[in-house]
Amino acid sequence: MFSSTFKYLIIIILIIIINYIGLIFSLDSIDGLSFSENITDGNSIVISSSGFVWPTPGYNTITSNYGYRNAPTSGAGTFHSGIDIGAPTGADIIAVFSGTVTYIGFSGPNGYTITISDGCYTCNYSHISPYFLVYVGQFINQGDLIATVGPKNVYGVPNNPYKDSAGNPTNGATTGPHLHFSLKMNGNSVNPLNYF
Ligand SMILES: [Zn+2]
Repeated sequence: MFSSTFKYLIIIILIIIINYIGLIFSLDSIDGLSFSENITDGNSIVISSSGFVWPTPGYNTITSNYGYRNAPTSGAGTFHSGIDIGAPTGADIIAVFSGTVTYIGFSGPNGYTITISDGCYTCNYSHISPYFLVYVGQFINQGDLIATVGPKNVYGVPNNPYKDSAGNPTNGATTGPHLHFSLKMNGNSVNPLNYF
C-alpha cells in the first residue's frame, strides 16, 4: 500500500518537474521569437510587422496625416510629406530603423531635423531639439535615443523666416511641439503609417 502510494507520488512529482522544465523552454523560445525589448522610459518598444519601431514611445496620437491638407500655418506645405505625432517638448525620439545619420541641421519649414538612411529607406525626424544627440556619419541602431521633441520657439537661427503670431521665431513652420516624421523608400515619399 505504502509503496504504491509512494510510486504515484514520485510519478506526480516527475510530471510536475518535466512540465516545469518544458514551460521554461517554451517561454524562452517565445521570448526569443517575439521582439527585442529595449526599454525607454518604462515603455517597451514593439517592432511592427514591417520591422519598424514607433519613434515616440508613449505618444501615439497623429495630429496631422500624410497627404494633401490645408496648411495649418504659413510656410507649411499643402502636401504634408510625413505624419505629425503629438508629443511634448523633451519627449524621447528613437530610431525607427537602423542606419547612418546623413544630415543634421535647420531644414527650412521642418525646423531642426535629423536624417537617417539605411540605403533603401531615408527618414527625417523634424521639429526636434537643437541640442543634438547624434552626429553626421554616426551609425544608429534601431531603438536608440536620437533626439528629443523640440520647443515651438527657437532663437539664434540666422535668417529664420518662421515666426508665431507674437513674432517670435519658431522651429520651422510649426504651431506647437510635435514630431514631424517623413519617410522615403528608394527616394520616393511614402506614407509612414503604412509601415507601423
Ligand atoms: Zn508635419
